[in-house]
Amino acid sequence: MSKIVVQDLHKSFGDNEVLKGIDLRVGEGEVVAVIGPSGSGKSTLLRCLNKLEEPTSGHVIVDGVDLTDKSVKLDEVRQRIGMVFQHFNLFPHMTVVENIALAPVELGRMTRAQARERALALLRRVGLEEKADARPASLSGGQKQRVAIARALAMDPEVMLFDEATSALDPEMVGEVLQVIRDLAAGGMTMVLVTHEMGFAREVSNRTVFMDGGVVVEEAAPADLFGAPKNERLRDFLSKVL
Ligand code: ADP
Ligand code: MG
Repeated sequence: MSKIVVQDLHKSFGDNEVLKGIDLRVGEGEVVAVIGPSGSGKSTLLRCLNKLEEPTSGHVIVDGVDLTDKSVKLDEVRQRIGMVFQHFNLFPHMTVVENIALAPVELGRMTRAQARERALALLRRVGLEEKADARPASLSGGQKQRVAIARALAMDPEVMLFDEATSALDPEMVGEVLQVIRDLAAGGMTMVLVTHEMGFAREVSNRTVFMDGGVVVEEAAPADLFGAPKNERLRDFLSKVL
C-alpha cells in the first residue's frame, strides 16, 4: 500500500517551471531520501506534499486522499503530515513544552493537560525532558531541532517530511538530530528526507531519489544509487559531494 502517491506533479512560479512532472510513490513505513543539487526543486516537492505549495497540475495522494482536491482542509493535511525545516521555526516567546503542546490544543485534539503530558513524553523520546520549561533561545541548534521534531510528532502524523533538517547545525550537533530520525525510521515512521548528508541517506533510506532540474533523474535502493549510479548527471553530482 502506498502512503504517498505523486502523479505527474508540475509546479511553476510565474514562468519558472520548477517541477516538471514528478512521479513518486512512498510505501507505508518506507524512508525515501531525496538528494540533488541546489535549485533542483527538492524543497518545492516536499512543500507540495503538505500543501505549503499548491501544485500547478498533477496529483498528490496521501492515504487515498487527493490533496489537490480543493475540498481538502489544510488543517487535516497538516495533522497527518509533520514537517521539519532547516530553520527550526520555534516560537521564541513560548517555552519548549508550550511549543510542542500548542497545535494539539489549538486544533481541539487534546486538553491543555493532556497536551502537556504528551509533550513531556515526546521530549523524553528526543532526550530533552529537562528542557521542558526552557525558552528556545537558551537551546543549542541541535536541541532546537529535536524540539521541532517533537513538535511535529505531537500531532501523531502518519508521515514526516524533513527538509535539510541538519543543514543549519554546527557539525557536532548533526549526529544527535540524525539519531532521532534514525529512531523514527526504526519505529516504522513513513518519511521523506531531503538531505545533503549522503552517508545518512545511504544508511537510513529504503530508497534514494536523485532530482535535477525539476525531474527525478534516478531512483534506486541506496546501495545501487550510490554504488552504481547510472545517469551521468548523478555521477557528476556524487563526484562533487562525496
Ligand atoms: P532545492 O530545495 O532543490 O534547492 P527549491 O525547490 O527550493 O530547490 O527551488 C527550486 C527553484 O524554485 C529555485 O529556482 C527557486 O528560486 C524557485 N522557487 C522556490 N520557491 C519559490 C517561490 N516561493 N517563489 C518563486 N520561486 C521559487
Ligand atoms: Mg531546498
